[in-house]
Amino acid sequence: MTNEEKPPHANLVGRVACKCCGYITMDPAEYDDQCAVCDWTQDDIQEREPYEVHCPNGVTLREAQQNFLRCGSYVPYYVSVRRPLAERVAQYARDPDWKPLPPLDSMSP
Ligand SMILES: [Zn+2]
Repeated sequence: MTNEEKPPHANLVGRVACKCCGYITMDPAEYDDQCAVCDWTQDDIQEREPYEVHCPNGVTLREAQQNFLRCGSYVPYYVSVRRPLAERVAQYARDPDWKPLPPLDSMSP
């Protein structure tokens, strides 16, 4: 069976939601898996410190989420070199519980 013949989601068993875009794309066993929808690279440190800039993504998780919501990729640069967002999301479900992080200054101590 070729990839084209597989039903949607056939390759997605065990996947988890991307922290940046909420689509269920990420393989939790692969520590630096990259999201097929928004291009975010999953990273423990960035997910623990979502308002800090770290490698490998180079922007904060919060900023990456806002970029995705605004332009369809975690950094605007990728939009010009990627297929349209509607095509990228077509084979993925979105976690209904995913929400973008609030702005840092809205969080009370
Ligand atoms: Zn993503």
